[in-house]
Order: sequence, then structure tokens, then C-alpha cells
Amino acid sequence: MTDQATSIATLPVLGEAVNQTYPIATLYVVATPIGNVADITVRALHVLSLVNAVACEDTRNTAQLLTRFGLHKPLIAAHQHNEREAAETLIARLQAGERIALVSDAGTPAVSDPGARIVDAVRSAGLRVMPLPGASAAVTALSASGLVNDQFHFVGFLPAKAKQRDTVLQQLRSVPATMVFYEAPHRIVECAEALAAAFEPTRQVVFARELTKLFEEIHRCPLSEAAQWLAADPHREKGEFVVLVEGAPQASDAQDVEAERILNILLAELPVKQAAALAAQITGKKKNALYDRALQIKG
Ligand code: SAM
Repeated sequence: MTDQATSIATLPVLGEAVNQTYPIATLYVVATPIGNVADITVRALHVLSLVNAVACEDTRNTAQLLTRFGLHKPLIAAHQHNEREAAETLIARLQAGERIALVSDAGTPAVSDPGARIVDAVRSAGLRVMPLPGASAAVTALSASGLVNDQFHFVGFLPAKAKQRDTVLQQLRSVPATMVFYEAPHRIVECAEALAAAFEPTRQVVFARELTKLFEEIHRCPLSEAAQWLAADPHREKGEFVVLVEGAPQASDAQDVEAERILNILLAELPVKQAAALAAQITGKKKNALYDRALQIKG
């Protein structure tokens, strides 16, 4: 263990982070760990050690986190109730040439967290904003979900009231991308039930619970089994959750009923190649798939 720690401390990448340029009059948007304190980047650590102050959602939380990194910095409260005023303070300090870090309680600021208004105001004032990437609960969950889809649709927190939540879910029914939800533990059962009612029960759901923490759990099942899985162990209703839901089932290009109807109409009047090309333009489906289907229809 000691040998490992020694070798990490002497890694050249640490020197690389130190020797890079960190402009003054810049707001550094710094991602912090979502549970495991070691999930902080080398560059983030260096920037946090370099800045004049750290703007944060909760000064007590951030003070504790910085202490774990062996750092002590002046803190500026910048939460959802004072973002506008905090932005003014930060802009004045940045204009005076300071470097300031912006962090949230956990993960990436401005993603279901305060920060977006501050970033907007700082950029509008013509000042530089530099992002330091790191942990994000959404991307962490996606990476270990095993759901195969190149697209994801970030929803974040659903409305707390059932009626508004169900309206949002209805609007998401035809989204083909994997959907990403954040949910609080006291609403996870209700959320699972609402998802199962809104989407096809065969769709896969992933509960990514307590990511990067001691009791991390990543469970995948059809939506129809979600409530049962949660109920099977009372611990499963505790902690922090990302919930992923498989995107809307897609009819294959050539099987799509509407595309087939259009293709047949066009084939009655046009040669195969032209009918397929026009059908592709009308439906947005792939031309090659429609061409193959047109050949089949023509026998
Ligand atoms: N900005 C943060 C990010 O990018 O990860 C998210 C902040 S949001 C206020 C907090 C929500 O993120 C939690 O309610 C939960 O849905 C999710 N979350 C944060 N940490 C998590 C973890 N360790 N495991 C699972 N979900 C987590």
C-alpha cells in the first residue's frame, strides 16, 4: 500500500498539472466526487489549491471536502437562492484578476445543480469560464448500465407532483434514446411505479444506487419487475439513485408500417430506385433498407 502511494505521488502527471497555465480572471467550473473522495482529478486538485476562493452550494460540505484534500480556502456561498447576487460578487472579484473555482455538493456543477446562471453571467461579462471535467452521476450510471444505445436523453429530476410527473412521462414515451432520471430515495418507489405505468412493461430499467460508494448497486430488470425488486430489500429504498429507462422500441426501417404504406404507393407509379429514394425522403428512413424492401415487394 505504501509503495503504491509513493509511486502515485511521484507520477509525472502531477508535475504536468502543476506546470500547465491557469489564467487569472477565470472561473474554473470544477467537478467533485459523487461519493468516493478519491474520484477527483489531478487538475481539479491543483486548481482548487491555486484559486483565491471557492464558490460553492453549501459552505459546510465544501469545507469538509477541501479538508479531506488537505486544502483550506475562502468560501463563497453560491446556491440556488442567491445565484444572481453571487454572480455579481464573483464577477467583481474575477474582474480584479482573481481565479475562482465553482463547485457543487457533488458531481458536475450546473447539471441538476446550481451554477448555470453564474456561468451565464460570468460569460456575459466577457470573462473566461474553464470547465474541469470529472464525476457526473448520469454518465457514471450510463457507463455501467449495459444499455446499448448511442443516444441518451437527460431528464434529471421529475416533478414531485404526480400529475405533472405523469405529463412529463407521457411526453417522453416516444423518445428513442436511453432516458436518465435523478431521483430522491423517498420518491424512488413512486417513481418506479410511475415509470412502469407510463412505458411498456418490457422496457429495461436500471437502478444505479449509491454509485462509487460502499453499498453501490447496479440492477437491471424489465420495468414490470422494478417495484418487486425495490420491495425485496428495504435497503434498496435508501441512498442516491440514477434511474435509466430504455428508449422507445423502434420498428425496423423496412417493417415500419407507415414507410411500407408510402413505399407501396410510390412503387405503383415509379421504378424501384426512385420509389425508395422518395420514400426515404418522406419518412426519414434509410434508403438502402427501403430499396431492399421495394425489391422484395416487386418480387
Ligand atoms: N450535478 C450532479 C452530477 O452531475 O452528478 C448531480 C446533482 S443532483 C442534485 C443529485 C442527484 O444525483 C441525486 O439525487 C441522485 O439522483 C444523483 N446522484 C448523485 N450522486 C449519486 C450517487 N453516488 N449514486 C447515484 N446517484 C447519485
